[in-house]
Amino acid sequence: MNPENGYISLIVNTSSGSSSEKHIVKQFIEYLESKQLQLQVNHTKSLSHARALATESAVKFNCAMVIVAGGDGTIREVVHGLEGSDKPMMLIPCGTENLLANELGYKKNSLNHIIQIFESNTLRPLDLCKANDTFFTSVGGAGFDGDIVQLVSDRRRGNITHLFYFFPILKTFFSYKFPPITIEVDDKVVFSGRGIAIFGNISRYALGLPILKVADFGDGLLDICIYKCSNQIPLIYHSLLTIFKSHRKSKGVIYRQGKKIKIYSDSFIRTELDGDPGPPLPLEVSIIPHAVKVLVPPKGKPVGMRRRVFRVFE
Ligand SMILES: [Mg+2]
Repeated sequence: MNPENGYISLIVNTSSGSSSEKHIVKQFIEYLESKQLQLQVNHTKSLSHARALATESAVKFNCAMVIVAGGDGTIREVVHGLEGSDKPMMLIPCGTENLLANELGYKKNSLNHIIQIFESNTLRPLDLCKANDTFFTSVGGAGFDGDIVQLVSDRRRGNITHLFYFFPILKTFFSYKFPPITIEVDDKVVFSGRGIAIFGNISRYALGLPILKVADFGDGLLDICIYKCSNQIPLIYHSLLTIFKSHRKSKGVIYRQGKKIKIYSDSFIRTELDGDPGPPLPLEVSIIPHAVKVLVPPKGKPVGMRRRVFRVFE
C-alpha cells in the first residue's frame, strides 16, 4: 500500500484481548508509522460505535483501508458498517474465540504474520449474514448452543476465557429438553422434529469443530447442519462423528446449503449469533454476498481443532 492511496482507519477495541494481543496492536501501529503511512486510530466505546466508525471510513474518499483490532463482536460490526464499500478490511484478532479470523487463517499473537498479511495484500470477498434484523459474519445456532450462550452472557463481566464456557455447557447438556423445531431451506421444509441446528458461513465452529464442513465465506450461500436428537445420547454420537469429520454422511444429520433459512417452533427455543444471544424464533436467515473485501493470509487455511484446543490451556 502507498501513502498516496489515503489514510488507514484503525478501529481498536481496547477492552478486548490479552495484554500480549494489545502489545501486538501497538507494535503494528509503530510498524505502519515507520512506513510513513497516514493513520487515524479510533478506540471503540461500544459495538454500535465500532459500526459507526466503519461507516464513516467507508464514505471518506481519502480512506484507503480499514484495520480492525477486536474480537468477533467488534469485527462483525465493522463488516456491517463497511458493507457495500470497496475499502479493503484487515483484522488483528484480539478475543476469546475469534471465529472469523481463525476461519480466514489468521494466527494469533504474531506480529510478523500480521505484517505479512498487510504486505501481501491478498483479498477475498466475504459475505455477511442476517437473522431477522441482526447481522452476523460467522455462525449461529438454534437450541442447545443458544442456551449455552445465554448462560455465558448472564454470567459474563468483561473479558472471558474458554474455561468460562465449561459450567454452562455442562448445565445445558444435562438440562436441555430437545424441543421440536421446523427448518426450511429456500422455502422447502427439510426437517421437522426434535433436534438442534447450526447455520452460517464458516466451516469451523468453536474450538475448530468442523460442523459446517464445506462452508465457504465468499460463495453467497448459507450452510446449515441439523442434528436429529431427542436426548443426550445421539448428541454425544453426533459430536464424536463431527470431531472425526464424518457427520455429514450420518442418517441422523441433515446438511444443506441455500440462500434462505427459516427456523420456527411452537416451543421456546433460544438462538445465538456469533456467540451472542440471538433474536427469538421464528428466525429468517439470509445472506448478502460479497459484502466486503477482506485481507487474508496468502494460502491461509482455517486453523484446526488441535491448535485451537491447545490455545485454551495456553
Ligand atoms: Mg457461504
